[in-house]
Formats: sequence, structure tokens, C-alpha cells
Amino acid sequence: DAGASRLLEVAGIGKQFKGLRALDDVTLDVGAGEIRGIVGPNGSGKTTLFNVVTGLYKPTTGEVRFAGRRVTGASPYRLAQAGMARTFQNLRLFRALTVRDNVLVALDRTRTRSIWRYPLWPVGVWRHDRDLRAAADELLARFGLTDFAGALPGALPYGIQRRVEIARAMAQHPRLLLLDEPAAGLNGEEVRQLGEIVRSIRGSGVTVILIEHNMGLVMSLCERVTVLASGRIIADGTPAEVATAPQVIEAYLGD
Ligand code: ADP
Repeated sequence: DAGASRLLEVAGIGKQFKGLRALDDVTLDVGAGEIRGIVGPNGSGKTTLFNVVTGLYKPTTGEVRFAGRRVTGASPYRLAQAGMARTFQNLRLFRALTVRDNVLVALDRTRTRSIWRYPLWPVGVWRHDRDLRAAADELLARFGLTDFAGALPGALPYGIQRRVEIARAMAQHPRLLLLDEPAAGLNGEEVRQLGEIVRSIRGSGVTVILIEHNMGLVMSLCERVTVLASGRIIADGTPAEVATAPQVIEAYLGD
């Protein structure tokens, strides 16, 4: 059954904001173990697609299936529980918590609500939980963040903050990781490290979808690329296929 290997199925998704059709009949499948790129000019609907998939927006039309289950309109928290984790284009770290504690809050398995709504006071308790601390330190080591464990995110270089956000997402033990422009603001060396991190994440069995403007990174990392323009999919294929497709070149010339 070909469907068995599909982790995410997006079928006929439309999203209307008042007079604006941000997504129009978007259909795509992402296979388990894939690294998928989502590209397209600014305003083409990429982040809106992430927001629909992760439950932040309810679609106007269409259906989202995750691991074979219909999840259209489910809350972000339920989807996180089901195995989706994401990062944001504009970092959303807890500024008042250290790097280790940012990871700790996402690790706690006793949470019954979203990390965004849960009062942060239990972090004082979790800090003294040996197992949680060990798990947090393991994640920090895995992402090269050990030296920054005690620092506040705001004091760290941007590239490190981005890595903290990825480590926090991975603390949720996702099956699917959605990265929204992870290379934005990174220098060349940081982009290279990001590529290695994403490959190691996939190597651990996690499916990855990334929105990305850095074409070098997309080309070197993704098996398949989906191209959006004005809310519609205009191309889908290998990086080499989409890069040379006339409709893609035309869409970018108008950007
Ligand atoms: P991209 O991520 O490709 O740059 P977006 O998905 O952010 O594009 O935006 C697609 C279109 O939808 C844009 O025209 C944007 O202004 C609009 N849009 C996105 N979110 C909202 C919203 N919450 N309310 C109104 N319009 C929105």
C-alpha cells in the first residue's frame, strides 16, 4: 500500500482571508523519512500552509491527514501530541528562560496543555528532575549547545538561537518537523551546520519539511521540492526539475 509510507497528506486545501485567497486547492503528500522543500516568492502562501498543517489556521476547504488520520482543524496542541513539531520564521523562544530550560519545558511528558499556555512555574521543579535534566543535556549536546546551556537566548548569536529552537522542537520527539526558513539570518558556515543538523534529524527517523529561500541549501538537502506561487502549487519534483521549470523561473522573475 503506497499510502502506508505517506506521513502527511494535504488534499485540496484552500485558505481565504477576507478578499485574499492565500491558498488555492493545494494538494501534496510527504513520505515518511523524506526531506521536503517548500519554496516560492514572498507572499505565495508557504507559512499559511504550515499554519494550516499545524492547526494554527483552519482551512476554508480541504483536508489534512497525518499518519493516516484525518486531523483537519485539530488544535496545535493535539497535533504536537500526535507528533508534529515546528519552528517559526521569527524565533519564539522563552526569553526569560535559559537555553536548557527552553528545552526542558518541551521535554516534560506530564504536561497536559500546550507549552504556550502552560504556566512556566513548574520549570523550577523540572530543573531538579534528574531524568529530565539528563534528557535536556543530551539534546543540547546533540545540537552543539552544551556551552550555552545556562545562557539566556537573547544574549546568544542568532544562529545559536535558531539551533535552540530546533532542539526545543526535537524535545517533543516529533515524527514530523516543520522548519520555517531555518537558514534566514545565518552565515555560510551556520547554513552548512544547519544542513548537517537536518540530515542527522532525518537520519534519526524524523520526516522534515522546510520552507527555505536559500536555494543552495534546498538543492543539497531536499529529495523533492514543492513550489508555491500566489497560493497554488506550480511545480513539484526533484530540485533539478523544479529549478529549470519555465513556470518557476517566471514566478521568481515577478518577485
Ligand atoms: P509566504 O510564507 O509564502 O511568504 P504567507 O503564507 O505568509 O506567504 O502569506 C500568503 C498571503 O496570505 C500573503 O498575502 C499574506 O499577507 C496573507 N496572510 C497570511 N496570513 C494572514 C492573516 N492571518 N490574515 C490576513 N492575511 C494573511
